[in-house]
Amino acid sequence: MKTYQVDENGYYGIFGGAYIPEILYSSVEKLKNAYLEILNEPAFQKEFHDLLHNYAGRPSPLYLARRLSEKYRCKIYLKREDLNHTGSHKINNAIGQILLAKKMGKTRIIAETGAGQHGVASATVCALMNMQCIVYMGATDVERQQLNVRKMKMLGAEVVPVTSGNMTLKDAANEAIRDWCCNPSTTHYIIGSTVGPHPYPDLVARLQSIISKEIMTQLQEKENRNYPDYLLACIGGGSNAAGTIFQYVDDDRVKIILAEAAGHGIDSGLSAATIHLGTVGIIHGSKTLLMQTADGQIEEPYSISAGLDYPGIGPLHANMAKQGRSEVLAITDEEAVAAAMQLTRMEGIIPALESAHALAIFDRKQFRPEDVVVLCLSGRGDKDMDTYIKMEEEKKTIISNRKSI
Ligand SMILES: *Cc1c(COP(=O)(O)O)cnc(C)c1O
Repeated sequence: MKTYQVDENGYYGIFGGAYIPEILYSSVEKLKNAYLEILNEPAFQKEFHDLLHNYAGRPSPLYLARRLSEKYRCKIYLKREDLNHTGSHKINNAIGQILLAKKMGKTRIIAETGAGQHGVASATVCALMNMQCIVYMGATDVERQQLNVRKMKMLGAEVVPVTSGNMTLKDAANEAIRDWCCNPSTTHYIIGSTVGPHPYPDLVARLQSIISKEIMTQLQEKENRNYPDYLLACIGGGSNAAGTIFQYVDDDRVKIILAEAAGHGIDSGLSAATIHLGTVGIIHGSKTLLMQTADGQIEEPYSISAGLDYPGIGPLHANMAKQGRSEVLAITDEEAVAAAMQLTRMEGIIPALESAHALAIFDRKQFRPEDVVVLCLSGRGDKDMDTYIKMEEEKKTIISNRKSI
């Protein structure tokens, strides 16, 4: 049977694999040989699910958004990952990986972060498990995500600002890999998305698959069938999307629409629309689509949302998009902010800027009244309040300028 899941060599179609420096070979090999066995151990499963439930607050609700459903003439459910402890889906993966690191005898944790959500989730589970935690973060992101930086430090993590490149997520990941190369035996690298060398994309997807497992049970209760007509999610590296679709990737009844960040527009030179603009290359240990110049230099990505401005994409999503299994829309900053404002006013939920990209899909696509549409609301908007306030003020200035003319 044709499947969109990873094959035994770590590939999704032509994408994936493990392109790593020799010094990391034995660490990655050990992880590859151990992860499925550890994840399937009853003791691991018990501790993982106990923490997801009692610590992270799962299951997250599947909320029927009535006003939004009326406006867009279909049945819209929001999978409320924003209600998780630490404010996003990132905690699911962080809990799973810290348990895995402990089982593998690691004593030191490193992580990269963009918006700071994965950094906070990693620092949180390290506090919980009494492990040393070092978080690499681009200096640009340190600047625009101050609240999360303060949280990580309060949780006891060391935050290392990275000043190479355009000082965002890609550069933070480069530094984390450099650190890992220096400390391969003691250190576990908690990658925060479905990116990196095999087995990380599959490991992270499996840890996030709790999202679609819950959707199945919750839809069965609410709709008397365990699948939706559509699944919607935003994609940075692809982990909340992977978790949302995991149980359904090979189920043709379920259509998948994903939103990547178009920034100022895909032709503007300021975007992170990897699937629209990317070509095949290797980034952070994985063969995937990436934004690069004709001679293979990685292009600096841009998005208003720090969690989406990554020049690569998880190999699972590169393959699904290329095979036509998923449809990927490129959503601009402006569309995302408008969708965030609308959700806030219509449902009383302030979403993360990343999740707002997925919400903007409703203004682009027409659904039928009988369609059941599940959207992964990957995180809450607390971290983005400064950006929202600034955008509202700019809008007011433009309007008052117009009036005075
Ligand atoms: C990190 C983040 C994302 C993007 O990462 P994925 O791996 O693509 O899910 C999306 N939403 C929120 C709230 C995030 O924190």
